[in-house]
Amino acid sequence: MQARLQQTYRVSQEIGRNAIFKGSIELSKLQRLSSLVIPQPGTIQVSFEFNQSAFQHPAVTGHIEAELSVECQRCLGPMAQTIDQDFELLIDASDEDIQTFQLDSVYSEEGYLDMFAVIEDEIILALPLVAMHEDEACNPHWRPDTESEQVVEKNNPFAVLESLKGQS
Ligand SMILES: [Zn+2]
Repeated sequence: MQARLQQTYRVSQEIGRNAIFKGSIELSKLQRLSSLVIPQPGTIQVSFEFNQSAFQHPAVTGHIEAELSVECQRCLGPMAQTIDQDFELLIDASDEDIQTFQLDSVYSEEGYLDMFAVIEDEIILALPLVAMHEDEACNPHWRPDTESEQVVEKNNPFAVLESLKGQS
């Protein structure tokens, strides 16, 4: 059974209904995510279902697809970011359950789960910490010396400390 997407679900009602929820969410509805990407009209395609068969514990599993635009940290220009992400999350799990099943948990508010917030969190986690175009020449003013310093920093934080010591 396929059902229309809504924002909030009563978990106890959905478990065992075997409904697959499928639809799209407008980027503008996800405020926290909107502040992290370049705002542009776009939609996020999602599908998910509530179940407990696999773990004997309430869970929600699904898939997210989105075409977002983020800012390249080298040239500050827009860069396409594709999100194609599966998720599998326990609902209202104790720390012990999380350990046992090796899955993260989301938490309902008095039995109601905000799936827009869950999906927003999943997308934010899937975004790269530092986005850069693959082509290093995207910014012609990008100074190679700055770049090599960053490589040193990444490989060996002590090398940077050494160079700072030398300056003082
Ligand atoms: Zn760039």
